[in-house]
Amino acid sequence: MLSYQHAYHAGNMADIHKHGSLAVLLSHMRKKPKPMTYMETHAGQGLYDLSAVESKKTGEAEQGIIKRLANGVPPLGHPYRTVIEQVRAKHGKTAYPGSPLIAHALLNPDDPQHLMELHPAEYEGLRRNMAGTGAHIHFRDGFEGVLSISPPPPGQPRRGLVFIDPSYEIKSDYRVCAEFVLELHKKWAEAVIVLWYPVLDYGLHMDMTDILYDANLPGLMRREVRFESPKQNHRLLGSGLFIVKPPFGCDKALDEVESWLKS
Ligand code: SAM
Repeated sequence: MLSYQHAYHAGNMADIHKHGSLAVLLSHMRKKPKPMTYMETHAGQGLYDLSAVESKKTGEAEQGIIKRLANGVPPLGHPYRTVIEQVRAKHGKTAYPGSPLIAHALLNPDDPQHLMELHPAEYEGLRRNMAGTGAHIHFRDGFEGVLSISPPPPGQPRRGLVFIDPSYEIKSDYRVCAEFVLELHKKWAEAVIVLWYPVLDYGLHMDMTDILYDANLPGLMRREVRFESPKQNHRLLGSGLFIVKPPFGCDKALDEVESWLKS
């Protein structure tokens, strides 16, 4: 039974970290004029309204992207900011793009995009919000789905990025995600793999960390940021990303994204 709905959390501090970093990574990959395939295991709805009751109820967007945009962060011209502006021009001034729309805006028009979502209502929303983009929307388990089409089928580029953003509703998700990364890398060695994880007060992510470090993945990069003033009584202390085969020279741009979370 899936209960997580990203509408309550869209535009929060973790989203700024993962979406800002995703925009940086795809922009770096776009510097080479070569096609790529994008896949996502846990897509959500793709588009959110930060004035909706869900968002107002938690106040997370208010403390996150709304506050930062009011302070000029991310700066004009940054790819993450540009995508937010494009989405707002089309869907209204309180719209906020999820990772599927962020990726879509930064891919070439012919780059295949495969999005997996298992929650029926989120899947319907995703289909609606991605209509006309050409993205392949799959109503299936993201781990099983991405593995079954990896490496990309003939005719689709082997160069690519897989974004993994689960809701971590059960403890075993940390181990499952780490094992999934290893299996995916075995099947699709060229892929840049990006795995988001929450930094929690009781350290559940340590299991994941041990499995990934023990595997000696090529150029494994870990980016972790602690929030300066986490919500009182809130177990989310920060946000982390593991990146397998990060594009060359992206470190500084990732540092910049992390600096926004301290403002
Ligand atoms: N990546 C999205 C973004 O940044 O805009 C947010 C995704 S949200 C954190 C996680 C999503 O995964 C939820 O919509 C949930 O319904 C979905 N989900 C949970 N388990 C799944 C599974 N096994 N396969 C595919 N989707 C799943």
